[in-house]
Amino acid sequence: MKSISIYKHKSLAVTLQSFFQIHHKTHPTFSQSHSPNTVLDEFTASCYRKDLSSAIKALNFMQENHIWADSVTYSELVKCCLARGAIREAKLVQKHVFSNGYEPKTFLVNIFINMYVKFNMLDDARKLFDEMPERNVVSWTTMIAGFANAVLEDEAMRFLVLMVRDGVSPNTFTYSSVLKACSGLFSLRQIHCGISKAGLDSHVFVRSALIDNYSKWGELQNALVVFDEKDTRDLIVWNSVIGAFAQNSDGDEALSLFKRMKRCGLMADQATLTSVLRACTGLSLLELGRQVHVHVLKYDRDLILSNALLDMYCKCGSMEDARFEFSRMVDKDVISWSTMIIGLAQNGFSHDALETFQIMKRSGTKPNYITLLGVLFACSHAGLVDKGRLYFQSMEKFYGIKPGREHYGCMVDLLGRAGNLDEAVDLIHSMGSDPDVVTWRTLLGACKIHDNRDLAAYAAKRVLDLEPDDAGTYVLLSNVYAKTRRWEDADQVRKTMKRTNIKKEPGCSWIEVNKQIHAFMLRDNSHPEIDEIIRQLNHYAQRLKEAGYVPNTDCVLHDVEGEQMEDPLLHHSEKLAIVYGLMALTKGKTIRIKKNLRICEDCHQFAKLLANMENRYIVIRDPIRYHHFQGGVCSCGDYW
Ligand code: ZN
Ligand code: ZN
Repeated sequence: MKSISIYKHKSLAVTLQSFFQIHHKTHPTFSQSHSPNTVLDEFTASCYRKDLSSAIKALNFMQENHIWADSVTYSELVKCCLARGAIREAKLVQKHVFSNGYEPKTFLVNIFINMYVKFNMLDDARKLFDEMPERNVVSWTTMIAGFANAVLEDEAMRFLVLMVRDGVSPNTFTYSSVLKACSGLFSLRQIHCGISKAGLDSHVFVRSALIDNYSKWGELQNALVVFDEKDTRDLIVWNSVIGAFAQNSDGDEALSLFKRMKRCGLMADQATLTSVLRACTGLSLLELGRQVHVHVLKYDRDLILSNALLDMYCKCGSMEDARFEFSRMVDKDVISWSTMIIGLAQNGFSHDALETFQIMKRSGTKPNYITLLGVLFACSHAGLVDKGRLYFQSMEKFYGIKPGREHYGCMVDLLGRAGNLDEAVDLIHSMGSDPDVVTWRTLLGACKIHDNRDLAAYAAKRVLDLEPDDAGTYVLLSNVYAKTRRWEDADQVRKTMKRTNIKKEPGCSWIEVNKQIHAFMLRDNSHPEIDEIIRQLNHYAQRLKEAGYVPNTDCVLHDVEGEQMEDPLLHHSEKLAIVYGLMALTKGKTIRIKKNLRICEDCHQFAKLLANMENRYIVIRDPIRYHHFQGGVCSCGDYW
């Protein structure tokens, strides 16, 4: 039997009975059959039954007759209002509970605050909070969580400080909430310090939140320190640290942590596998990715994981696997479709990409910003100028997507490649916002293809305005000036480079052999088999020359320095990697290489001829696209 709560005010020291009698006159129908006790019983029962309308009916009666239930019963009613989204009813309950004479217990006020926070009515929550005679850790944490969810980081932080000043110790939930809102590295360090002082740094959720936060600010070493401080048996913390490295493009560390995790006897779940696949994608580790695939099979219907797998196959240039995986996916969302369209386009299968786009539309999936980027990319790489122009001009009308900077970039690429350089420049000038360095670089790329030196100089200068350290563009600009006999200008550029000590980023290529990554760089002899590789390389070059290969030393618009003659050209990193692939991989196996810079014309030609001569499938992934070399041709159609 629920008791009637304490009456604080003298005026209320009147018996219930007398109130009831007064009420009797005004509401004869309801009260005839209800004594205060039965009303209270009915109210209590309704609250626990979650019968909102009966509870409110009884509540109205109680309100008029100054009858109160206990805080636990009210808390049931408030929870019921929250679950039903019943704001109007909630307000009635609040009015009743806070009406003259009743002092709700702190936990009940907390439940009210939580309800308003969940309703996203922070002002109401705040008002209740401010009026509380005493606030406990739950009151503070509820408010902080509310601010964190509403992305009011400053308020969340301010409340943490006030809370500590008020003598209330934050708990793990407080810290998880503050960390969620944490907006800067400085405040993160402060919070971390507070957590350590409070001795809460061994709590799973706090540790995982700390790791996530350090990762968010790119502070991977700090994330690792938090992780290594304690022996970890919880998957959630492992997932945080593996995810941290995978998302920050440090696939090596992500994979080595994954191996450590397995040695500890922990089983990977969807989140772990998604991170591991991301790491494989970043490192182009197709073989390892395939092994992970086996573990993914048991989470067949996990869309995030399936999309990560699809992305891995696309980015590793294994379109056969990608197509197979895509065809057997039961559920596909806009990310799956976009991943496939972009994957096909980047790997040189533009027509398949556009066909996939048509199938996607028929399936009823609405394309998004990224999908259309893939479509324009496909048009651009297939040289489909009219089609691309049409998609670009109609994207807002048909799909409600306003062209962004990237779409303009794709169009500049499309027009530039096709030789419509003037139209490309007009398009750049018609952009609503200032063109970024990628756009100018794209135009510069088009000028290289079409050997338009004047425009190349103009675009190169725009690139250097935005990125004054770009060595490749300086070299190119000076080469353009030299070729057009503007010696003084050429000299000026060289001097600028020397004065500001700008050096070119060295080309580097990677190849995976027996699950090991081998890296190659020009003039770097650290590979244990380098002598044999060079010997083989000379041998292949000789045989190719006999078959008609002429080293291309005249790529003036392709960032090759004037003094680089045939010899270093032959030792470009991708050539070393290809030859090592031929040596180390079993016959018939695809040679897959990743490169940090764009492939030069000479290496492109070399790869084409060698793939044909040795009857090998060679895939080279550069920062922009993929080249699939087979049978003497490349999937890019010599157009990159
Ligand atoms: Zn090269
Ligand atoms: Zn190519």
